[in-house]
Amino acid sequence: MSILVVGSVALDSVKTPFGKVDSVLGGSGTYFSTAASFFTDVRLVAVVGEDFPAEHLDFLRSRNIDLSGVVAAPGKTFRWEGEYGYDLNEAHTLDTQLNVFGSFQPDIPDNYRDAKVVFLANIDPELQLQVLEQVAHPELVACDTMNFWISGKRDALLKTLKRVDTLLINEAEARQLAEEANLVKAAQKIISWGPKRLVVKRGEYGSLLFSEHSTFAAPAYPLESVFDPTGAGDTFAGGFLGFLAATGNLSERSIRQAIIFGSVMASFTVENFSLERLRQLEYIEIEERFRRFKLLTEFAGLDN
Ligand code: AMP
Repeated sequence: MSILVVGSVALDSVKTPFGKVDSVLGGSGTYFSTAASFFTDVRLVAVVGEDFPAEHLDFLRSRNIDLSGVVAAPGKTFRWEGEYGYDLNEAHTLDTQLNVFGSFQPDIPDNYRDAKVVFLANIDPELQLQVLEQVAHPELVACDTMNFWISGKRDALLKTLKRVDTLLINEAEARQLAEEANLVKAAQKIISWGPKRLVVKRGEYGSLLFSEHSTFAAPAYPLESVFDPTGAGDTFAGGFLGFLAATGNLSERSIRQAIIFGSVMASFTVENFSLERLRQLEYIEIEERFRRFKLLTEFAGLDN
């Protein structure tokens, strides 16, 4: 199955303790689509401005991503500027310029409206809802968001969540959204608002999957070189949903495997700035890291 995604396509300026880049390719929709494209067909809905370099669109096309839902509008592209200290788990937003996203009204192309798998990447929750309303009968809807929208558009976000199966957010966002310090209680509260599952991303500490009746914990892949965590969350979602859409299997076993594919994709993204590592990535490396992940967490029970 293919995936329909709405999200930001951006020009990012990022500073980490290991270097700095200016106006490079970024955006939640970009990172998600690129990661998911290793597993299945992706149809992207987004808007870019007149200043958006054509070579970035060529790159997305080269990944076989369908761009018929990407509109070029008068004005400037969405821009995000962020900084990380030595604690790479926390991004500090220095500036967000919505630009063309401020007035974007997504109009889903006819050939997208039958999408069965939908990803609402981090973007204004009102846009997320507008996209969802144009999709006929989605079978799996997953969603991401961030502090910017949790505090700025809470009501719209809660409305979107009612129609979401799986919410993927980071630890601080889960606490902020639920207004609850304890993560287990926060997860239960969020699940009571609509989503069947909550995936909590914890940066270098891995991730947790909560559903009504089970909890699953996955580590993060121990990496020697982490340069830039930007996009880790979106590529996690791309690996997670890409794998589920490719297999069409939503069993608990498959969802746990998808969490590991998400972790694998995030682990590659952080090895370089922007999408540089993903540009070089081969599918065989994804499989190899998936296998190493299994070894990482394998241990004997008490009775064998
Ligand atoms: P993450 O995976 O959470 O590190 O996402 C990083 C990407 O999110 C960056 O490439 C930004 O362009 C994008 N981004 C940052 N803030 C926002 C926002 N408020 N809305 C949509 N996208 C954003």
